[in-house]
Amino acid sequence: MAIHYVCRHCRTFLGSIDRSTATEIQLGLHSLTPAERREIIAYDSDGEITVKVTCNYCKEALDNNPELSLLASPLQ
Ligand SMILES: [Zn+2]
Repeated sequence: MAIHYVCRHCRTFLGSIDRSTATEIQLGLHSLTPAERREIIAYDSDGEITVKVTCNYCKEALDNNPELSLLASPLQ
């Protein structure tokens, strides 16, 4: 069972870790609200977990162009 990190904006695969070696606290997931967890964390049928984060490249782009975040929102 593993946790995979994928950029939510460009879908770049950022890496994965074995779930047994990390707790939600170590992952920083414990501070999320239930709504955020639904949005950010995806569980697939194999029990694998995909966590959508923002890669450094996209973070930089968003920092430089805050309006881009509006385009990336699924609600827009
Ligand atoms: Zn990205």
